[in-house]
Amino acid sequence: MSEICHTYSQQLMGTTVSLQLFVENLPAVSAVFQTIQALETRLTVNRNHSEVMSINHAAGSQPVVVSKLVFDLIRQAKQASLLPHSCFNFAIGPLVKLWKIGFNGHNVPPAEEIAQRLTLANPELIKLNEKNHTVFLTRTGMEIDLGAIAKGYIADITKLVLASYGIHQAIINCGGNVLTIGSSPLSSNQQWHIGLKRPFAAADSLLGILHVQNKSVVTSGIYERYFILNEKLYHHIIDPQSGYPLDNELQSVTIISDNSLTGDIYSTILYGLGVERGLKELEKHQYMGAIFVTKDKKIIIKSNQHFEFKSLADDYQICSYELN
Ligand code: ADP
Ligand code: MG
Repeated sequence: MSEICHTYSQQLMGTTVSLQLFVENLPAVSAVFQTIQALETRLTVNRNHSEVMSINHAAGSQPVVVSKLVFDLIRQAKQASLLPHSCFNFAIGPLVKLWKIGFNGHNVPPAEEIAQRLTLANPELIKLNEKNHTVFLTRTGMEIDLGAIAKGYIADITKLVLASYGIHQAIINCGGNVLTIGSSPLSSNQQWHIGLKRPFAAADSLLGILHVQNKSVVTSGIYERYFILNEKLYHHIIDPQSGYPLDNELQSVTIISDNSLTGDIYSTILYGLGVERGLKELEKHQYMGAIFVTKDKKIIIKSNQHFEFKSLADDYQICSYELN
């Protein structure tokens, strides 16, 4: 193809963010990266100061006013946390900080400490005021953590930034959250080709390739951030029921959806549900497709005809379902 692809990368949100465009538009590129940086500064809990940290610091004492953008994400995070059978929980902060998985000092905490922090990881105890845009963590020690969804929310906003520059064909990759915008000028069928990583292998080793158009592709897995102790693997998605890393038959779940925030929320929820209950849940979401990868080397695909999957892994068995 004669199309020229312009790729730009920056280290942001603890990962490499890359943007591919097919026109040269440096003002658009810097607007995208500046937007990501500004949103990260508001949403992060990995620094002492941010809008979300100002909420966390005021836990047990008072409500905190936040910007509309931050409130909007917190409102959606609370909604997702209160869905029946949802293992997504934005009040999980005290446990994430205790385990420190993916950060220096990770450890298996004493069971009593896990039990004590579980009582704080309760989304019902986070009070939102729609009118004043305030957020109140009603118990000392509570902490909001938006780590599972901030990248998706931010990716969706960068799509709006690009549109404001008249750009309607691009890919933005926020380390695992890939948002394809419009159709691809790189392939004759106008589909973008997105690699699905092989678990626990080199970054360029793939299980297969997804073909999508104008979709978000988000993966939650146990192989991105983890540690091993006494031959047991501890990864970074915490079960809000037990306080320990979620443990089931899955290695990863990939969600194919229109927007990346939905993908982020459901990649965590479906990961927690496992294959059988996850497939059932998908029946309710005709606009969403999913790929489950199991520890016993099965790839279970539920497509809504909005994506195709080409396998590159002979050692994995593929099961495919169409939504009807
Ligand atoms: P990645 O950061 O690799 O994209 P995920 O999107 O799956 O991974 O999010 C994992 C992060 O979400 C954790 O590092 C933590 O900050 C947060 N988290 C952990 N457990 C939960 C949970 N049960 N619900 C919501 N967020 C969680
Ligand atoms: Mg996520």
